[in-house]
Amino acid sequence: MSLHPETFKTLLRSAAEQVIASAPELTSLDQAIGDGDHGTNMKRGFEAVLGKLDAISAQPLDAALKMIGKTLVMTVGGASGPLYGSFFLAAGEAASHHGQLPHDLADIFDSGVSAVSARGRSRAGEKTMLDVLIPVLETLRTAAGQADLIDRVRAIAAEAAERTAPMRATKGRASFLGERSVGHVDPGARSSCVLVQAVCAGLEG
Ligand code: ADP
Ligand code: MG
Ligand code: MG
Repeated sequence: MSLHPETFKTLLRSAAEQVIASAPELTSLDQAIGDGDHGTNMKRGFEAVLGKLDAISAQPLDAALKMIGKTLVMTVGGASGPLYGSFFLAAGEAASHHGQLPHDLADIFDSGVSAVSARGRSRAGEKTMLDVLIPVLETLRTAAGQADLIDRVRAIAAEAAERTAPMRATKGRASFLGERSVGHVDPGARSSCVLVQAVCAGLEG
């Protein structure tokens, strides 16, 4: 079974729209522990993706993911632009070897997560987007093939984003605050949650 091109386009559109709609929330989270631009950064990037929606969805999966990555690298800026860009570029590279969605989703997602970790020199527990992306990957692996996979992924994304609140940031701008970063959800963790949940909602149809 492979993902139909129209389904991919619908998914991408709704994910982009939901990131754009969450911009005020992402900005306010980044005002608390960063420089207050995560919402505008992500909005700019996903508006650019929407602008290329037809061209992106006309490509095979690997090329489409790479186009998303390049667009995000060029438009998002900040720390998150190169990181989300790397995620999609590596996912696209993996898709060119591993084939198809949804069957190879965990392998493709795994490559994206590894690329973020390599690029950001970061790992779990540092109060970043990886604190959502890694638990989502683990759930994609452990719940693969189960009927409630989408529900579980959606739930873990939300839980994992909330679990960044008590963490102390050791990467990115929030790390400059040390202990004062404690008590706030990480903006990048939240944007990863929004993206993952939008894809889940789209897959459920
Ligand atoms: P900037 O911090 O440059 O203003 P953004 O506000 O767009 O960039 O993005 C901040 C988010 O990027 C953080 O909330 C965090 O999730 C993520 N981030 C920052 N540095 C890293 C890193 N080294 N590894 C993983 N994620 C990171
Ligand atoms: Mg910022
Ligand atoms: Mg910034």
